[in-house]
Amino acid sequence: MCASLPPAAYRWTDDDADTRADGTAADGTAGRGERRSATDEEGRRRRLDYPPAPEPLPVPVVDNHTHLNFRDGLVEVGVRDALDAAEAVGVGRAVQVGCDLPSSRFTVEAVEADARLLGAVALHPNDAPRYAARGELEAAYAEIEALAAHPRVRAIGETGLDFFRTKGEALTVQFDSFRWHIDLAKRLGKTLQIHDRDAHDDVVRVLAEEGAPDRVVFHCFSGDEELARVCNEHGWFMSFSGTMTFKNADDLRRALAVADPSRLLVETDSPFLTPHPYRGRPNASYMVPYTVRAMAEELGADLAELCGRLTANTEEAYGSWD
Ligand SMILES: [Zn+2]
Repeated sequence: MCASLPPAAYRWTDDDADTRADGTAADGTAGRGERRSATDEEGRRRRLDYPPAPEPLPVPVVDNHTHLNFRDGLVEVGVRDALDAAEAVGVGRAVQVGCDLPSSRFTVEAVEADARLLGAVALHPNDAPRYAARGELEAAYAEIEALAAHPRVRAIGETGLDFFRTKGEALTVQFDSFRWHIDLAKRLGKTLQIHDRDAHDDVVRVLAEEGAPDRVVFHCFSGDEELARVCNEHGWFMSFSGTMTFKNADDLRRALAVADPSRLLVETDSPFLTPHPYRGRPNASYMVPYTVRAMAEELGADLAELCGRLTANTEEAYGSWD
């Protein structure tokens, strides 16, 4: 494998022009989802070519949070091709996450199509208020509950609080929706996958008020040492993403250092949060090794040992893939 190239399925060639216009991948599984914006949060244009494939990991790990329905980059990549590319570098399995009804329906189809996937379904904290505004929240809850009953849907998420994107009256809906999803996870015996953006204290408070489910994952952990200690205390999993590799992420690296190793998970949140030095470009599960290596370095841990631990932790969080 040439270290400077992305995996074959992620490479742009002239033949892709048709595929792109048509909007479907060779295996028919891509091209139906939302597209990630071509500009970043500050409005700058992003590079849309995929980063090179990393060196394979010595022991396989799991990407416990990805959005395979989300399109990004210059080429369409289907579920099977995405998982093949990840598997080739030691990321053999993943958790596909839905955020609204279309992506949650996609999740159930995807977990039925490929045994390397488990699923999570929910209304994202920024999406629940939109369903409420259209008078469709109760119907959406009913469908999420039905989809969540699927035996390969092992988590309710992502749900939680986002004070960055949602403001004002819509926050009432966001809080109610978080409480509803916590209750659903408990009723169905599923893992809770939390989205927490600028809302650490309230997320912890609501979990305490409602009573947390047995297994809780802070997806794309964004807290500091203090939140890491709270997670240690409650036995909540902390899933680290590419953000821990960012130059300005000293808080996150300090949190990683105090996190109980038995609570550590790794994820991409792809196509978002591409690790350094590829920040801003499209992300995919095959890039997990960049983050795992950065974690090992930060922890002074043996890479193979960390990989084994991450996989064992992931199976404790979501159960067996078999
Ligand atoms: Zn996500």
